[in-house]
Formats: sequence, C-alpha cells, structure tokens
Amino acid sequence: MSVAAVDVIRAKRDGRELTAAEIGGFLDGYTAGRVADEQASALLMAIVFRGLTPDELAAWTEAMIRSGTRLDLSGVGRPTVDKHSTGGVGDKISLPLCPLVAACGAAVPQLSGRGLGHTGGTLDKLESIPGFRTALGAEEFRRQLGGIGVAICAAGEDLAPADRRLYALRDVTGTVESIPLIASSIMSKKIAEGTAALVLDVKAGAGAFMRTRADAEALARTMVAIGTAHGVRTRALLTGMDEPLGRTAGNALEVTETLEVLAGGGPPDVRELTLALAAQMLDLAGVDADPEAALDDGRAMDRWRAMVRAQGGDPDAALPRARHVAEVRADVPGVVQGVDAMAVGVAAWRLGAGRARKEDAVSAGAGVVLRAVAGDAVRAGDVLAELHADDEDHMRAGLAAIAGAHRIGDAGPGRASRILGRIVPEDLAEA
Ligand code: URA
Repeated sequence: MSVAAVDVIRAKRDGRELTAAEIGGFLDGYTAGRVADEQASALLMAIVFRGLTPDELAAWTEAMIRSGTRLDLSGVGRPTVDKHSTGGVGDKISLPLCPLVAACGAAVPQLSGRGLGHTGGTLDKLESIPGFRTALGAEEFRRQLGGIGVAICAAGEDLAPADRRLYALRDVTGTVESIPLIASSIMSKKIAEGTAALVLDVKAGAGAFMRTRADAEALARTMVAIGTAHGVRTRALLTGMDEPLGRTAGNALEVTETLEVLAGGGPPDVRELTLALAAQMLDLAGVDADPEAALDDGRAMDRWRAMVRAQGGDPDAALPRARHVAEVRADVPGVVQGVDAMAVGVAAWRLGAGRARKEDAVSAGAGVVLRAVAGDAVRAGDVLAELHADDEDHMRAGLAAIAGAHRIGDAGPGRASRILGRIVPEDLAEA
C-alpha cells in the first residue's frame, strides 16, 4: 500500500473519514501479510469506537469481497435466493426452509458456517445425518443448484478470506461487537457467494447477538443497505429470540424436528418462521408459489431427501443418539411463563452439541428437548426438559446450565408471533 498502515490507524483513531484507497490498501495489505495482526487489531478497535461512515463501510465490504472470488451463479437456470440468520438458540430454520423454497421453483445456494458458542451451526446439524458431506467444490455446488435447486455446504477457503482472518482476530481482541464490522463480515460472504437475492433473519432478544430490538434494527438496516449497494436484492425480517425456537437445541435433535416440520407438523413457531421467510424469499426471487401447500403436500420433504442424497447422506438412516438422557422436572405447579433462551443454548453447548474453539468436535446426539414451553400448564413433578449427553461430565454441566430456565407462574402468556418487523430498501431513506 502506498499509505502506511499506521497512518490509516491514526486517521481512524482521530475521527477522520478514510478514503476507499486507504481502506482497500490496508485490507489488501493485511490479506497479503504486509499488514501485521497488531495493526489490524488496532484499526478494528478504532472502528469499534469511531464506527464507519456509509462510504467507508462500502469500501471495507468491497475490499473483503475482493480478497477472494465472487461465485457466478448466472448459469444455474433458476432465480437464486438465499437466507442468512444472525443466529439463535434452536434456530434450525435453514434446514426445512432451503428445500421448501427450492420445491417452489427458486434455487437456494447456501454457503454456511459451523456453530461457535451457544448458537448451533447449520453444517453441524446436517453432519449429524450419516454420510452427509458439507464440502462441495464450486462445480458440484453449481450442478446441484441447477439440478435439485438447493445445496447447503461449507464456504470454501477462497470466499472472503480477509473476513476469515479478521473474524478470528476480532474474536480474541474484543472487537466483534460493532454493527458495521458484523454487517460487513456477514454481507461480504453472502455477496461473494453469488446469490442474486437475500433475506436476512435478524434476531433480537435474550438468546441473540443483538439483545434489543433497536440494535437488531440498526444491524438489519446496515446489511440491507450493503446488499442493495452491491446489486443483491436484500430484505430483513426482525424476529424474536427471547425464547428458544421450537422444542429442540442440538444437532441430530434439530434434524428430527426439521423432519416433523417437513411432514407438515412441528412446533408452530418453527413452521411460522419457515413460511414467513419462504414467502419473502419467493417474492424477492419473483417466483409465484404457495409455500404452505409445498410444505403440506410433501414436495418440500421430497426436495430435502433429494438434497441429503445428493450430498452423500442417507435420508432414511437412524440419527445418532446420545448415551445418557436426564430429565429436569417442575418443582411447583403452574403455567410456563417463558424459557430462558440463553440458558438453553448454553446447556446444549455444555452437553456437547456446541464448541468452545473452532477446532473442537461436536456431539451429534447431545442437546436439549423442551417438554414444556411458554404457555404450557405443568404439575409439580412434570418433565420440563430432557437433556441428552454422551457422558456424565457433560450431563452435569448441562444440568447446571439449564437450572431455573423455566419460569413458572399463575397465568400463561398468550402465544406471540416471532415476527417483529421487516426492513426493505425503501425504508432506508427514512433514517
Ligand atoms: N457472523 C459473522 O459472520 N460475522 C460477524 O461479525 C458476526 C457474526
């Protein structure tokens, strides 16, 4: 870079707007190894405090996309549309949603990630299916999209590599919590994936990255603006994450719940959110179809089975089960007022379903099954949750994490919709 990295850091520290050349030079230099980790850390921390202006954010995102290859999916032969969730407890929605949208006529190119911390990763869930492969080459990915219209697999090394390095650095330098850094990190990968349209599920609440609706809305607006500026038709739904989604958290347990949804049943909140996101995706893709009919008449299930087979899995194989099951019971009678999503997410993680470091292995069978959720009446001694773990140590840690997660009182809450709001590009003008 012609400008020294230290000058870029000083400029951001002092509140001067960076030029596109300075940002591009810094990030290109970082990807090439000419800018050191400590310099990148200093710039990230300055961004946490100073933020990025819209022009800086555009240049930052562009540089991250440019650090790798942008896939060309124009030859797929169907409109492409993907979905990204900012992550929550029990969020298995991609599993029923992607085959459902493909069954309706769009192509869903989902490059996904693994779980870290209390939220599970889509790839970990799929890998609990015996034989399922999440590593697909670019050609195989394109062929599968042209054939059955859906592929969910791991992002390759060449997808926004600058983000991969920066994200690892942010994780250990206290610089994850910044709306422009989160938004550009997510959107650079989704834009590089080559989808023409994208629906974001931005979660707000106790079990989400963004605890408040105001923060979730700010993140949604920032991501919709980035997608739109890069020619990707983008919208966001704001959805509630105070309660776990559905009744399961854990890899194979969530696949089992997915099969219930694909069979036309499943928990009402999982079905509601799947159908709401499908409607947004089909609308953005310009496909006129009825997702509810495709879920209820078995077309979505057929597409799921085709995807599992195409990626080496056996859709009829028994799913792994953990060796130990323990029950958590109600101390008092009453009505469940709510279930603490963060406690359930941490319990599933401690039981072995999640990882603390990205190198850790996960247990396919471990996790939580909620036998009582908000609004359910319980008697003293009724089972509130079942915990699944491969060994006693994990079980003890899971039991400690979930203690007190169910709040029991006299009157039950009404069933609230998960959908809190929607952000479309036209909303961005009214800042
Ligand atoms: N997910 C990402 O991909 N990047 C972030 O910065 C946060 C969540």
